[in-house]
Amino acid sequence: MSETIKRAHNFNAGPAGLPLEVMLQAQSELLDYKGTGMSIIEMSHRSKEFEAMINEAEADMRELLNIPANYKVMFMQGGASLQFAMVPMNLRPAGASADYIVTGVWSKKAVQEAQKLGPVHVAADLKASNYNAAPENLDLDPNAAYLYYCSNETIHGVEFFQEPVAPAGVPLICDTSSDFMSRPLDVSKYAYLYAGAQKNVGPAGVVIGILREDMLERVPANLPVMLDYKVQADEKSLYNTPPCFSIYMVGLVMKWIKKMGGLAGIEARNTAKANLIYNAIDNSGGFYKGHAQPAARSRMNVTFRLPSEELEDTFAKEAKKLNMIGLKGHRSVGGLRASIYNAVELSDLEVLVGFMKEFQQKNG
Ligand SMILES: *Cc1c(COP(=O)(O)O)cnc(C)c1O
Repeated sequence: MSETIKRAHNFNAGPAGLPLEVMLQAQSELLDYKGTGMSIIEMSHRSKEFEAMINEAEADMRELLNIPANYKVMFMQGGASLQFAMVPMNLRPAGASADYIVTGVWSKKAVQEAQKLGPVHVAADLKASNYNAAPENLDLDPNAAYLYYCSNETIHGVEFFQEPVAPAGVPLICDTSSDFMSRPLDVSKYAYLYAGAQKNVGPAGVVIGILREDMLERVPANLPVMLDYKVQADEKSLYNTPPCFSIYMVGLVMKWIKKMGGLAGIEARNTAKANLIYNAIDNSGGFYKGHAQPAARSRMNVTFRLPSEELEDTFAKEAKKLNMIGLKGHRSVGGLRASIYNAVELSDLEVLVGFMKEFQQKNG
């Protein structure tokens, strides 16, 4: 039956495409999960089947990312956006200031939330260059509660390939929502990192948080339970009903990443995909212009412009007719954006790049 299903060339920014193999497995297990006669979304989150599933998802993630034993893995709700508030609530002691690097929309939103709850110091803000690079210079507070940054700005298409270096003793915190598990990552450099699943590793509804245990000492005693990392960690993400289906899907994606050669294999695949489209942009004689400076070009979200907004509109519309979906840039930045997360195939990029050449010939 699957051969007759027409799948889109899915360049959506999030929620985004998932591997076909993963979707087919979810479909095949939807009515009867491992002989239980129930779906994974119809059973107790306290059942032994569910517990085995969530434990395996975590174990596979730990293996793939080589997560050290002194880190907790949490599956939470509220999206990455709730983390903007939970990070300062849990990890910035009362009265202390936290450092933030602002490289685009998402780190800016994190600052705005953190500011509502206490002092923030902006270590860099790349607004003047319309968020097209990672910062070269940081104004760092050696006494900051932590240094926060976003490793991939999904809307501007700017990625850090080297994490910022925090002053000695200042914990590093990262929103890695849109490049999580797209390449190897040295978890031991971070005190906390988190990612919403719906870009690279699953459907919306679950956020993965990876927290170094000593940071739990900072968590104040009086937080509402659902906003408390200590509760989430102590209860192994099962304080209340977790987003069962989303966690299950993340587990399937972990198995798929393993089959793809782990994070090194995924990175090689993602690099090849990104090179294909950036080369097309660079070889277009200026017809296509990349937004991000070459050193900071995201391998996940490729942002680019055409000579006019009208052409950008036409491009997105004609592409859509050819089943290429999601190419219009975010409303706050404009232009075009191809999100090419883990599940996007090289063949999808080949179709897109072929179309880019044709479009230029017709309109250039
Ligand atoms: C998508 C995204 C968010 C917001 O995620 P929600 O789950 O919608 O709250 C935050 N940060 C980054 C980097 C993102 O890509």
